[in-house]
Amino acid sequence: MEIGHFIDGKRVAGGSGRFADVFNPATGEVQARVALASAAEVDRAVQGASAAQPAWAATNPQRRARVLMEFVRLLNRDMDRLAEALSREHGKTLPDARGDIQRGLEVAEFCIGAPHLLKGEFTDNAGPGIDMYSMRQPVGVAAGITPFNFPAMIPMWKFCPAIACGNAFILKPSERDPSVPIMLAELMIEAGLPAGVLQVVNGDKEAVDAILDHPGIAAVGFVGSTPIAQYVYARGCAAGKRVQCFGGAKNHMIVMPDADMDQAADALVGAGYGAAGERCMAVSVAVPVGDSTADALIERLIPRIEKLKVGPYTAGEDVDYGPLVTRAAMERVKGLITRGVEEGAKLLVDGRGFTLQGYEKGFFVGPTLFDHVRPDMTIYREEIFGPVLSTVRARNYEEALALAMDHEYGNGVAIFTRDGDAARDFANRVNIGMVGINVPIPVPLAYHTFGGWKKSAFGDLNQHGPDAFRFYTRTKTVTARWPSGIRSGSEFVIPTMQ
Ligand code: NAD
Repeated sequence: MEIGHFIDGKRVAGGSGRFADVFNPATGEVQARVALASAAEVDRAVQGASAAQPAWAATNPQRRARVLMEFVRLLNRDMDRLAEALSREHGKTLPDARGDIQRGLEVAEFCIGAPHLLKGEFTDNAGPGIDMYSMRQPVGVAAGITPFNFPAMIPMWKFCPAIACGNAFILKPSERDPSVPIMLAELMIEAGLPAGVLQVVNGDKEAVDAILDHPGIAAVGFVGSTPIAQYVYARGCAAGKRVQCFGGAKNHMIVMPDADMDQAADALVGAGYGAAGERCMAVSVAVPVGDSTADALIERLIPRIEKLKVGPYTAGEDVDYGPLVTRAAMERVKGLITRGVEEGAKLLVDGRGFTLQGYEKGFFVGPTLFDHVRPDMTIYREEIFGPVLSTVRARNYEEALALAMDHEYGNGVAIFTRDGDAARDFANRVNIGMVGINVPIPVPLAYHTFGGWKKSAFGDLNQHGPDAFRFYTRTKTVTARWPSGIRSGSEFVIPTMQ
């Protein structure tokens, strides 16, 4: 099977002659190849988007919102079909794939409120006979570059608000799992979106660079690893675009001595190993406070980890997690586990040797647990993005807080405690963008905003929620005065409205 692009309302074949393999991660087989766009193909997509955008911007916001309303209905109608396509390329379980779609769908639902969210501000009588008002106008053509780990949710986080605001949108999804983004674009057309308003261009660095350099694109949103986020931010800003980039993570979960240990252990297993750890909000570091907390936690973690069911998405709804996305990802994670052992961490559960009968070529890694990890170790400093949980023992609360704060990433963090005072202090002081209190994966809902701090995000606005409507619009402020004052002649002093 060959996957091309989606331009001007229909699927088109790639013309560059360059392709990338798309795997079924459970079997290791190549199941498709995806076209990698050239700069000329990106340009063609931008031309189509630029042509479609003015009429779309002129469509009243309520009508634009109705397209999203219908899109939500179609997503629900096609949920199982989309989830199956998603799991087949990504490897995550079917319930998790449905969650991926659902979390994008909720952003589409939020964007149905565009008529309200796009209202400007108005000052009546700002001066004698003067009214002042601001409008939120679309930026024009925006683009989104998205990662492999949420091939439905993150594209929707980007294109739903951009399109609701009256922009046209160029989506460059991950080349690892490109099927679902094109299916989403088809559903948008079925929902009534005019052709050209949403273009999907598959590709790699060449397509990304073409987007960053293209003068017809006004804003770029990126989600992926931190080195690429920094690169996209620098190059996009240098080209004069509005850019927001969301990067990698190393999320800590602090377990206080007074926490419910069974609840904390359950939370850690779900947040550490769900989706094989391929989530930017996965918990990858457990920080028990005090040795007795650490011992009590580990004692509960090990039997839970040993019971985890790892397998292909086809093995049933009770599979806990599936394979990693590629062989390279699997080898990298196994290599980091070996590095952890070499650097002196204590390996309590080793997932390197995991195999599954009938799926020997799949990209599986078993759940892995380390204890006595230190901050100078590679497995602590780097984002592993696999089913590996590291335990760093802290002597007290201040040490645990400092550990999370000193890490270069600042996406998510959690504290498990029964002490409201400690929880409040933690939420106030920690320098991390999303905080969970007895919640291991604190991903904000669609009507709040999502974004990390430190090296987890570049740019000054978050994703979805009200910030998305700020990112995808420009403010224009009009000062209007009607005749009577104008008749008095020229004014040479800057108006002060007194
Ligand atoms: P990635 O950085 O490899 O790829 C992201 C996007 O960038 C893809 O579309 C890819 O084609 C493109 N890309 C890759 N290499 C490039 C290059 N050299 N030049 C230009 N473009 C390039 O990330 P990934 O492996 O797809 O996704 C996993 C990463 O994403 C993890 O680090 C994870 O933490 C992060 N992530 C962050 C968030 C967040 O909101 N902070 C959410 C999800 C994932």
